[in-house]
Amino acid sequence: LFLSFEGIDGSGKSTQARRLAETLRAEGHQVTLTREPGGSAGAEQIRSLVLEGDADRWSPETEILLFTAARRDHLEKTVLPALARGEVVICDRFADSTRVFQGLTRGDLSAMVDQLHRLMIGREPDLTLLIDLEPALGLARAQARQGSEMRFEDMGLGFQTRVREGFLALAGAAPERFRVIDGAGTQDRVAEAVRAALRDAVPL
Ligand code: C5P
Repeated sequence: LFLSFEGIDGSGKSTQARRLAETLRAEGHQVTLTREPGGSAGAEQIRSLVLEGDADRWSPETEILLFTAARRDHLEKTVLPALARGEVVICDRFADSTRVFQGLTRGDLSAMVDQLHRLMIGREPDLTLLIDLEPALGLARAQARQGSEMRFEDMGLGFQTRVREGFLALAGAAPERFRVIDGAGTQDRVAEAVRAALRDAVPL
C-alpha cells in the first residue's frame, strides 16, 4: 500500500506521516516512512542541490528535471522495493508537490510536469492525505519551527495561498485518490482523522 501526505509548509503533514507510521507499526504492519525530495541516497543529494543555495540557481525547467530525477531514484531504490516486500509505504510529499510547486508557482509548467511524470514515474500513491490548513496558520507554524529547510518562507501568504489552492484543485480532480483532512485541530485530532480516513479507504 502506497500512501502520500501533501500540504502547505507548516500544515503538519510530516508530523502526521510520522505518527501514522508509528500507529501502523504498533498495529503490526511493516512500514517504510520516506520523504521527497529525497528518500534515497541519490535523491537526498539532489534535494541538497535544489533546496540549498540561491532560489534562482536553477531555471524552472531544470528544477523540474531535478525533482523528476530525484523521484525516479527514490522510486527505484526505496518505494518500489518496499512495496514489493509487501510493506506500507508512507511518503511525505510525492508527485502532487511537483504538480503544485514546479507546475504552478513558477509559471504554468503543468504540461511539462505531467509529460515527465508519465514518461519517468508513471505511478500514483493508492491514497493521498492532503492536510489542509489556512496559510496564515501554516506560515506561523513553519516560521516557529527550528531548523526549517523551507525555501519559500519569505514568499509569504500569497504564495502559500496559491499552493493550498493548487493542492485543493488536485484533490477535487481526483477525489477517489485524495482525502482532505482539516489540519487546524490538535495533533491528536488530526492523527485520528487521518487514521479514520485510511480505515474508510482500505481494510488495514
Ligand atoms: O516537505 P518539506 O518541508 O521537507 O519541503 C521542503 C521544501 O521544499 C518546502 O519549502 C517546499 O516548499 C519545497 N518543495 C518544492 N518542490 C517540491 C517539494 C518541496 O519546492 N516538489
